[in-house]
Amino acid sequence: MIPVPDHTEGTPFGARSRLWSCSRNSTGEGIHTGVDYPAPIGTEIVAARPGIVVWDDHGPDFGNHQLEIRCDDADGGGRDFYAHMSARLAAPGTRVATGQPIGRVGAEGNVTGPHLHFERHSVASGPWGCSTIRDPQPSLDFQEDDMADPATQAQLDAILTAAREAVSQIGQLRSAEAERARNARKRDAALLDLVEALGPQIKTRAGKSQLDTIKTLLQEHDTEETTP
Ligand SMILES: [Zn+2]
Repeated sequence: MIPVPDHTEGTPFGARSRLWSCSRNSTGEGIHTGVDYPAPIGTEIVAARPGIVVWDDHGPDFGNHQLEIRCDDADGGGRDFYAHMSARLAAPGTRVATGQPIGRVGAEGNVTGPHLHFERHSVASGPWGCSTIRDPQPSLDFQEDDMADPATQAQLDAILTAAREAVSQIGQLRSAEAERARNARKRDAALLDLVEALGPQIKTRAGKSQLDTIKTLLQEHDTEETTP
């Protein structure tokens, strides 16, 4: 979620200027490593996504109240970094939920005015570095609904596996049944051929009657097999 609710984005992630040093282009312009939210000093900052709070010091440029949240969601973990704040409202080591207050907007460090500078890093810990910088958009888009409860997810996975097995078994049974039906029809046809061949040799009344019964049986059977 947006970490400074009801405030619009200022300088976007990836904006270029000679002020910045990461990913410099041929004209010496680096990228803005986060997204800025200009707001009056003291404006409440909330957690964009859940995780464990760490109080950071990634150098004086980011001010005296830096905070990161080590994220444990499905989106690759990593961390969200909050800089230039005037206060930290969440204690280190505590778990915060999305939308929980974690700090206040300030103007500490290398700034031209009060704002939150919000970054996304690909690693959960370690020093600040250009190689770990990522577009923070997934954190801005994050909603609590995106967090899967692991137990529920495991149940869902198990049910999906069982459902796939059941469907596969039904398919196997159906094809085995169809195979048996084909074989039965072949046997019927073979018996009919046999009966037709025997026909002229049957002279007794009892024998002819038996022949008719056999034909009727086999033909009825054949009709049952082919009628849907
Ligand atoms: Zn910034």
